[in-house]
Amino acid sequence: MARRDKRYRLPKNWIVLPLIVYSLLFVLSFWIITESIEIFLAYTSSLKAKAETENVVYYADLYDQSTFDSDELFIDYVASEYEFFVADENFNIICKNTDNITAEFILPDEESASIGLVRHLAYELDLTSERDYFFMPDKDCSFLEVEAYKIMPIYAHVPTSFFKNKGELFPYWTVFTVKNGTEFIAFKTHIPITLTDMTYLAVFTTVSILLVFIIFVILIVNLIRTTKNNSQMKKVIFRDNITIDRNWFWFAIKSREILGRRKAGTQYAIVSLVFVKYRQYLLCHSLVQGEQALRVMYRTIKASLEKGEIVAHGNLNTFPILMKAENEETLRQRIADIISRLEATGGEHDFNFQAGIYMIEPTVKKNADIDMLYNNASNARLTLESTDESGIAFFNNQLLEEAKWTNIVTENQKDAIANEEFKVFYQPKYDPRTNELMGAEALVRWDSPKMGFIAPGKFIPLFERSGFITEIDHYMISHVARDQKRWLDEGKNIVTVSVNVSRAHFSEVNLAEQIRDLVDAEGAPHDKIEIELTESAFFDNQKLILSTINKLKEYGFHVSMDDFGSGYSSLNSLKDMPLDVLKLDAGFFRGEKDNERTEIVVSEALHLARKLNMQTVAEGVDEQYQVDFLAKEGCNMIQGYFYAKPMPREDFELRMSNQQPL
Ligand code: C2E
Ligand code: CA
Ligand code: CA
Repeated sequence: MARRDKRYRLPKNWIVLPLIVYSLLFVLSFWIITESIEIFLAYTSSLKAKAETENVVYYADLYDQSTFDSDELFIDYVASEYEFFVADENFNIICKNTDNITAEFILPDEESASIGLVRHLAYELDLTSERDYFFMPDKDCSFLEVEAYKIMPIYAHVPTSFFKNKGELFPYWTVFTVKNGTEFIAFKTHIPITLTDMTYLAVFTTVSILLVFIIFVILIVNLIRTTKNNSQMKKVIFRDNITIDRNWFWFAIKSREILGRRKAGTQYAIVSLVFVKYRQYLLCHSLVQGEQALRVMYRTIKASLEKGEIVAHGNLNTFPILMKAENEETLRQRIADIISRLEATGGEHDFNFQAGIYMIEPTVKKNADIDMLYNNASNARLTLESTDESGIAFFNNQLLEEAKWTNIVTENQKDAIANEEFKVFYQPKYDPRTNELMGAEALVRWDSPKMGFIAPGKFIPLFERSGFITEIDHYMISHVARDQKRWLDEGKNIVTVSVNVSRAHFSEVNLAEQIRDLVDAEGAPHDKIEIELTESAFFDNQKLILSTINKLKEYGFHVSMDDFGSGYSSLNSLKDMPLDVLKLDAGFFRGEKDNERTEIVVSEALHLARKLNMQTVAEGVDEQYQVDFLAKEGCNMIQGYFYAKPMPREDFELRMSNQQPL
């Protein structure tokens, strides 16, 4: 189920998620670029400011240690390099060598107290300006943190002079507390930003933005291409090559979608609609005409559907349909209408259509196993297969049981072989005149720990359909050969045992070799093994069957025709095939007693066989009068409940030792 589920899961076409991720990446990249610019600015500015700060620290220390409050010499000395001023703790200027202390902002060296102090100082000294910015020397003045955003507005003021001067000196004040906190000394320092610095910055910015942009465009183009490819792929995957419209795969996926979305109370049914004699139609018409007819049918069905109903073209001549179904009667009516419309597309041709319907349970929703539902509809349709006429059949409980059974058997069959769950039963064949044991037929039984003891009628037809029957046939041949070999080794008087070989198996070219090898592997003699081939198989590939029979006989096996008289006349096969044994079908012995016509047919069949040098076995004999009649007519062996039912190996071994019927 899980594996089936996967079959109908298409790879999701994610577009929104990558788009969001790409956009986020895009924004993130721009953020990183802006941050990088800031860091670059801060780093360059810091480097350049550092040298200046080292100088003014020296001057501040010099002033701090001097005994004068305001020494002319000091002023001269410093003034040669810096503009500066000294203020007392009340922010009164004690001395200065500049009048220009209004435009810039200043800061003390202690970061913690700084902000308040600076604001205060700025206020007292009337230092407010839009161009304010500052640097914050740390205690050792070894590094200066830069609040770069403060520098930004300056650019707006300076571009012309900046380019003319090939750079600009950005002034700032550095303040120190001196004389035990009773005075401040402030120096006007500068950061020299050059044109080269700005060029680096511009190149870096342009290249990064360009790169991000290119990558983003590539990603988007790729996303669009993948999306386009995906939708193109979907079209191809979902396309039926005959109708150039929807195929089974689409049908299965869409049905799940519809069932998943259905409102409570909306009933759905899945329909398997088949154009009955398509192959025959193809024999008389060209493939092109056949496909054209299918296209017309498809369009006719499609036009007959209501909103929310879907149809596809399945295999060859089948059309899976998902329809709303109020109840069985209205649905039957609608499908009958569709079928009449389809029949009309045939013109003078006699077109027929059969529909199998499965009413989907209301509980079946989005994870519906569409294969299983459709299989049920197909099974319902198969019940109509005996006729070529148009018809409609609903899936019923008996079919459901069969479907369940098929499932169980298929799931268990492989293990059953490995675990030797299949048992060989032997049904003895007796000579009706002497009551002597002449042979036996090996018949399979399934002794399943899960399902109990199962008769072949319940699983052989299934295996024949699935092809698993060949495994059973091999298994039976090997086991019979093994038993024969063991009995021989034990000194028992063995009789010929016949093994059924399925009709499905007879189409294999090397069947005779397979049988020989299986028997040889067990070391059993060939001439005590008989291969039973059912009558109806003789209508298959006659050349192949004849060659297989010839080879089997060459290897020393006996070959019999099983169920003679059960089907169509097989006299022709008797003429051509060099068979050893003829097994009269149980049907001859099922009718009422003293049926003269049956007696004539049986008697003549026995006569015919004898003339063709064939042994005869009558099957399904359970009455004394039948035994007497067959004995009189010279039938060689009787295999029937009158003598014995099929029995386990151990019971049969007793019969072999006694060599006496009960
Ligand atoms: P079949 O080959 O025609 O086997 C004869 C069937 O008739 C057996 O049924 C047997 O039990 C039954 N039978 C024999 N005498 C009487 C009788 O007097 N009265 C009644 N009512 N029935 C009698 P069984 O064993 O159930 O097998 C049914 C069919 O299953 C076989 O028909 C054969 O077609 C198939 N089959 C059984 N075993 C194997 C096998 O190992 N391989 C293959 N390929 N088919 C097998
Ligand atoms: Ca048989
Ligand atoms: Ca038979």
